[in-house]
Amino acid sequence: MTSITSKLPQLGTTIFTTMSALAAEVGAINLSQGFPDYDCSPKLIELVNQAMKDGHNQYAPMAGVKALRLAIASKTKKLYDAYYDIDTEITITAGGTQAIFTAITAIVHPNDEVIVFEPAFDCYAPAIKLMGGVVKSLELEPSNDYRIDWAMVKKLITNRTRLIILNSPHNPTATILHQDDIDELSAIVKTQDILILSDEVYEHLIYDGETHHSMAMYPELRERSFIIASFGKLLHATGWKIGYCLAPAYLMTEFKKVHQYLVFSVSSAVQQGIAQYLKDEDTYLNLPSFFQQKRDHFRNGLAKTKFELLPSSGSYFQSVKYGHLTDEADTEFALRLTREAGVACIPTSVFYTRGTDHKVLRFCFAKKQETLDDAVNRLLDFKLLR
Ligand code: GLN
Repeated sequence: MTSITSKLPQLGTTIFTTMSALAAEVGAINLSQGFPDYDCSPKLIELVNQAMKDGHNQYAPMAGVKALRLAIASKTKKLYDAYYDIDTEITITAGGTQAIFTAITAIVHPNDEVIVFEPAFDCYAPAIKLMGGVVKSLELEPSNDYRIDWAMVKKLITNRTRLIILNSPHNPTATILHQDDIDELSAIVKTQDILILSDEVYEHLIYDGETHHSMAMYPELRERSFIIASFGKLLHATGWKIGYCLAPAYLMTEFKKVHQYLVFSVSSAVQQGIAQYLKDEDTYLNLPSFFQQKRDHFRNGLAKTKFELLPSSGSYFQSVKYGHLTDEADTEFALRLTREAGVACIPTSVFYTRGTDHKVLRFCFAKKQETLDDAVNRLLDFKLLR
């Protein structure tokens, strides 16, 4: 064997792959990895199918199919009153993760510092490290509703700070940014050469009449932001791996330089089909009520268990605390629940660099009502939770 030096020596397989595989192996209900267990719209499938029959089977333009870029521009204008140019400011990607990797690759140089709020979705740090960047993490805590302490953010900033990564609605905590967060963020970045990577893949999954504060809404933030979006969440079709990035032209130019050699372009027929489907704006306007109903149903069920429920303001995740029931590490307890209770979830300590264990587990409620009911019944059958 030839000897190699790993670029990511600490890293194993993602928790999503690990837990989904275990769930399948032991026959557990899989509320771990975030994806729906119901199908996407038959009309959407028909439209994609038609696009294939109509011959949209060769490379799409590098930035994405024009009709879809137009649909995205019009959705962004309608929702956030922000104009993005379809030729220079929008690129369709192979999902949110690729868009995030591409943006980080395009702008992070060796020794650049990137501020990341933890718990953080697991794809940010590896991309930063591969580029030779330095992760400066700020830990958020459930006892404080995972709110960002902006005074601490100010302390983390140095003349090497290049990027702040935000994620609202947030995975895994299901919290959202509020107007005062936006004000604090604006005050911090406005006098500095700091860019923002705003992971907004759950933009349409927001509850209780709250507003999604997209970076697109605030000109002084928009001008320095890559905004990442996902059709997987919008269309209930995570397996299609289609997302997009919005950014002002000077940033998008750099993004595209990487994108063209990472994937060049993504599935043309799927893009054509989605473009047609988005003509009906109810596809995304109805999402908050659709998912809020699932959230409420699942929360009502979980409330019968001994778990302590944390708030869920956005995303399709519901977290629970269990530290009053057992001392087990969340990674151990998640495995035990999967094997013994037959319900798979995600331990949230894996989203902290230091593995901080607040004894919080994340469940995905983007599931059929009967799946959620079965899961709650299995949890109620588990002695510790009854
Ligand atoms: N976003 C999904 C989640 O948080 C999973 C994404 C993935 O598996 N890479 O569960």
